[in-house]
Parts: sequence; C-alpha cells; structure tokens
Amino acid sequence: MILNIKKYPDTILRRPAREVKKIDSEIIDLFDNMVVTMRNANGIGIAGPQIGVDLQIIVVDTDKGVRKLMNPKLVKKSKWTSIFEEGCLSLPNIHVKIKRPKEITVSALNIDGNIEMIEADGLLAHILQHEIDHLKGRLIIDYLPFFKRLFMKRWQKLAVK
Ligand code: ZN
Repeated sequence: MILNIKKYPDTILRRPAREVKKIDSEIIDLFDNMVVTMRNANGIGIAGPQIGVDLQIIVVDTDKGVRKLMNPKLVKKSKWTSIFEEGCLSLPNIHVKIKRPKEITVSALNIDGNIEMIEADGLLAHILQHEIDHLKGRLIIDYLPFFKRLFMKRWQKLAVK
C-alpha cells in the first residue's frame, strides 16, 4: 500500500521519534508499506515520521538491497568526510550539499529481532545518517548556511499564504 508522504512543514517531521519496543505484525506491515511508498516516489531511504509514524524505523535502499531497521544509532564515525547532494521525499525540489562522516558504524535492530552492526561508507553512510536525522526531527535544510535558511523561512511563509 502506498502511504501518504508527509511534507515540510508538517510538524511530525520535527518531533523526535519513539524507540520501538516490540516487533509485531503491525510494524512488519508498516515496513512493507514503507518500501512500496519509497520505491513509488523513487526514493532511496525513508523514515517513520515521513509517513506520519513517530517510531524509530527506517528503510534504506542501496545496491546491496533493502534494509529495514529499528532504533538505529550511530556508534562510530570517521574523521574523514564526504559530500553528497541530498534530496528528501518530504522536501521536494530541494537539494542540499551535505558534508558528513565518510565511514560510519550503525547499530540497529533488524526485523528478525537481532542487533546488527552495519559498517557503511560513501552513499550508504549518507543515507543512514540522513534517515537517523529524521528520527531526531532534523532535516536537510538545517544544514544550509544561515543566510539560505532565512531565505527558506521566507519561502515557506510565502508558500503558506
Ligand atoms: Zn529525508
């Protein structure tokens, strides 16, 4: 089922998401719907708040396949950074060049109920950090320089009118 993607400035995008305490059929269905929704929108990652669910759940899609993760945490990051131009399904038509640690380790609960350690670099590292940001209420526009952010706020006001 294709779900409705919440768009900025929907307030759920700014709220920290709650930890998943138990894996039930509801969460498993939700993950399946997130995958379908993400693919339908040509995305490579999606987080709970983006479909209106304030749970720490994310889906990331890379050449290594789709991963469905819960309660992901950044446990290690390199000093080396890389820059990618990131987009977001909740902020259509906005792209922001973001510098992030190039190599990271993320611990997360997988759908089988096991804690997984995921070592990632490059694009996958960016996607994971982007989705973890969503669980904290952080968006790509928060990485814009102050002046551009101010412009975004004006733009938002105009868009609301
Ligand atoms: Zn996003």
